[in-house]
Amino acid sequence: MGKIAVTERVTGHTELIGLIAYPIRHSMSPTMHNEAFKKLGLDYVYVCFEIDNSTLEDTVKGLRAMKVRGWNVSMPNKGPIIQYLDKLTPVSQIVGACNTVVNDNGVLTGTSTDGTGAMEALKAHGVEYVGKKMTVIGAGGAASAIQVQAALDGVRELTIINRKDAFFEQAKSIVGKLRERTECIVNLYDLADTQRLRQELDSSDIYIDATPCGMKPLEGIASIPDKTYLHPGLVVMDTVYAPRRTKLLQWAEEMGCHNFNGLDMMLYQGATAFKLWTGKDMPIDFIRDVLF
Ligand code: NAD
Repeated sequence: MGKIAVTERVTGHTELIGLIAYPIRHSMSPTMHNEAFKKLGLDYVYVCFEIDNSTLEDTVKGLRAMKVRGWNVSMPNKGPIIQYLDKLTPVSQIVGACNTVVNDNGVLTGTSTDGTGAMEALKAHGVEYVGKKMTVIGAGGAASAIQVQAALDGVRELTIINRKDAFFEQAKSIVGKLRERTECIVNLYDLADTQRLRQELDSSDIYIDATPCGMKPLEGIASIPDKTYLHPGLVVMDTVYAPRRTKLLQWAEEMGCHNFNGLDMMLYQGATAFKLWTGKDMPIDFIRDVLF
């Protein structure tokens, strides 16, 4: 364990913010948030708690009783936690999960900042998405948060593509809810239908890949068959950021697509939670330098 100078910062006034998940010791969130608190002189400390579903209810009761300002939630608690909260934002209602909780004087609100993180990352890269067509490959936790946020934020048409597994079935329910609650044109297709895949990408402005393809153990693999599925006017965002350049992003570069990895999505999902808890903007450029 490294030397940590906490005594200069943590006092009797310091408030707690946490992350509850299992496993979680590898998380970059404590560094991200603690460095941001320090930089802005905010009297909070961010700590990880290894919690799984078996003690989740007691954990939420405890955090509420201790008047903790808020916390992040990761696997396996993202879905199960919503039954213990008082309110959910529209994105969390539709996704049926949350990654952030805010405690306003004992009232616990769950939200999902992964989708906002992705939309903010698009904005940060100068990509206009309102009124555009977006294709998202993937239907898991990250993908569904992105899809719901995109539809709520004014994307005109959303195509969801996934292989036919359990996630595909879950995506059907999200498609139904988005059709009911938003104006967005939403469709779901099987990734194995390559003709459809090509057609959807050809007519899209933005393609976000939210599968683990490209990261270990799927390094060197992309979810699309080859680079001819991309066209120069297409913006390509890969949610993976380790490695920085996935096969997909190499292909996107070769095809002349504006492309970027998931680093900014990760930073902005944290920044969105940070703002909800503290009311302050996270110093993104400073944190990017600290982390990478
Ligand atoms: P998940 O397990 O919830 O979902 C995985 C999805 O990928 C499913 O739709 C599954 O069907 C699909 N999939 C899995 N293997 C595949 C393959 N070989 N080919 C095609 N599709 C495949 O995972 P998640 O939490 O949603 O994470 C998905 C990706 O998003 C990961 O790469 C993760 O690193 C990334 N992510 C990035 C951020 C960020 O801030 N940048 C945040 C969350 C997740």
